[in-house]
Amino acid sequence: MFTPIADRFGRPLRSLRLSVTDRCNLRCQYCMPETDYAWLPRDTLLSFEEITAITAGFASLGVDRVRITGGEPLLRRGLPTLISQLAGLRAIQDLALTTNGVLLADQAAALRRAGLQRITVSLDTLDRARFVALSRFDEHAAVLAGIDAAARAGFDSLKIDTVVMRGTNDDELTDLIEYGRSVAAEVRFIEYMDVGGATRWNRSTVVSQQEMLATIAARYGPVTAVGGRGSAPADRFALPDGTTFGIIASTTQPFCADCDRSRLTADGVWLMCLYAQAGTDLRRPLRAGASREELVELIRAVWSQRADRGAEERLTLDRRGSLIPLAALKKDAHLEMHTRGG
Ligand code: SAM
Repeated sequence: MFTPIADRFGRPLRSLRLSVTDRCNLRCQYCMPETDYAWLPRDTLLSFEEITAITAGFASLGVDRVRITGGEPLLRRGLPTLISQLAGLRAIQDLALTTNGVLLADQAAALRRAGLQRITVSLDTLDRARFVALSRFDEHAAVLAGIDAAARAGFDSLKIDTVVMRGTNDDELTDLIEYGRSVAAEVRFIEYMDVGGATRWNRSTVVSQQEMLATIAARYGPVTAVGGRGSAPADRFALPDGTTFGIIASTTQPFCADCDRSRLTADGVWLMCLYAQAGTDLRRPLRAGASREELVELIRAVWSQRADRGAEERLTLDRRGSLIPLAALKKDAHLEMHTRGG
């Protein structure tokens, strides 16, 4: 049983993204383009028990969907142990993970056995040289092997997420759909977002949902919208043969009105929005001995005051560049996308 709560726009608290590390084994140009970063101090990282206790608190207020993210979550040692602890929370109906896939071939079966239901692998290109240029690591073959392993592990769903950037991979949309078909994965194209960390972002590099649909329709024929997105970030579409794909149009068609998501960083800072400038520290009260009821009260109080609609506000700007200046990012790791999780 839970007591549902709503924010100032009536949005419920349903979905929680848990970042389990701020470290990553890739350096994608749209997320971590710099040469060095400020990292979260190790002793501030929440233990698995702390993450599970906080998640249980959220569950008592209505959270029933959890996604593990990062940084690169598979870098967190012993991750299947956390998955099984979270899978043991009865209120959590949907347990998913987003990974870059580099370490997935070795871990897919164990994650599935631990109770992970769904998995999303980020893959921006089918071309090895492009992958190396974009991510600055020669790990393309490892990611493809990870996707194969995930396909064999029998997850309830396998998705592939692709950030589309003009002049980088916007000529691969249909090839990626074909690849997705071959591994029984639904592909979702993400518009390049001006989040913290995307210091090279500029409007002209964004390929809009509208443009993507035109490219896909030119190859396959009429594309139809598949209704019922609900609070999910992706608009879904079907090709004439029934193959489905998604587009996350956060940059040109934000969906703040339906957003029931919030995020917890690996050190316990709770963020209401990917574009938020600051969050609420849940680690300090937890480590200072706050009871479960006190934590739940804090979460309830903060959510009921939530009025964030970050992506919609960005859309109203005449001049839109990167969200946070590099100097500020260097001072506070919490402003980075790789700390917040995608
Ligand atoms: N390391 C994992 C991964 O690669 O999936 C999880 C964390 S990553 C921050 C989560 C997602 O955010 C990835 O799909 C990534 O492509 C996406 N992402 C990062 N920066 C982005 C940006 N500027 N615009 C759109 N998506 C972005």
